Amino acid sequence: MKVCQLCSVQRAQLKRPKTGQSICKQCFYAVFEYEIHCTIVDNKLFKRGDRVAIAASGGKDSTVLAHTMTLLNKRYDYGLDLVLLSIDEGIAGYRDDSLETVKRNQTQYELPLLIVSYEELYGWSMDKIVAQIGTKNNCTFCGVFRRQALDRGASRLGVDHIVTGHNADDVAETVLMNLFRGDFARLKRCTQITTQSTETADAAPLTIPRSKPFKYTYEKEIVMYAYFLNLDYFSTECTYSVEAYRGYARVFLKDLEKVRAAAIMDIIHSGEAYQAQEGLEDRASAPGKQKKPAQKQGNCERCGYISSQKLCKACVLLETLNRGQPAVTIG
Ligand code: SF4
Ligand code: ZN
Repeated sequence: MKVCQLCSVQRAQLKRPKTGQSICKQCFYAVFEYEIHCTIVDNKLFKRGDRVAIAASGGKDSTVLAHTMTLLNKRYDYGLDLVLLSIDEGIAGYRDDSLETVKRNQTQYELPLLIVSYEELYGWSMDKIVAQIGTKNNCTFCGVFRRQALDRGASRLGVDHIVTGHNADDVAETVLMNLFRGDFARLKRCTQITTQSTETADAAPLTIPRSKPFKYTYEKEIVMYAYFLNLDYFSTECTYSVEAYRGYARVFLKDLEKVRAAAIMDIIHSGEAYQAQEGLEDRASAPGKQKKPAQKQGNCERCGYISSQKLCKACVLLETLNRGQPAVTIG
């Protein structure tokens, strides 16, 4: 019988995807939860008394996030006031079903839940948008609308912070995508654990900070954790998922992981090292150098959301949708 490499007492029941160690289930839960706790504490993600919204889609990442945030908040007495925030994009057969899972999570974790919908905010559901524009740029619309919807929901809830279920695989994929595209401005920012919604890369951050407590947590371990603990989550892909480029990065990353699991962490560390190096160079070249003036940050003339332009990105997209149709403003 192989013995757990961590406790040396129990029988090993699994091979840990991140390290390849043979360990027992109890040690897996302990190490999984403790690493997330360390990410939260080392990066000082919250302060005592913060009201924190967990972005909840009903999928495995956000369900495990709701589970671990509730557990760690109690175990380590963070003193956080947790709430669930869901965005209903209006995708029949996908989001309506996954929101049923979130509603059950609300009861299971005893957390208040707010659902904000694209239909209510923008007058358009994703089903209507796809009926109008097809399935080519739908994720661009959806991404811009979701970012703003999360901020609007969070401000209704009066939260200080939003946490999302982005995991280590997501971050490594984003590093690879930015590298493949030669998008160094994004490459520099994409490994940050906490970000704030800005309409442009240079705009001053004004909205609610959002963090990724799973930044160093492997997707395979999230799936394992949810499976062993029999957590209630929804696992169907969005019907309109056509993000082809990310798909290539994902397949490439999974191939690398098969050969060497540490590749995921190493890609994230490379992105972080690039970010740190660029930060040093910015500081070194600052003396005597004319600094680019910060872009003036204002509010969208139409909906009031932060924007460095007259109209925010969502309102620009809405204009294209509403052309030839009754004008809809963000509610
Ligand atoms: Fe929206 Fe695209 Fe994600 Fe579907 S796959 S939820 S359309 S961003
Ligand atoms: Zn606007």
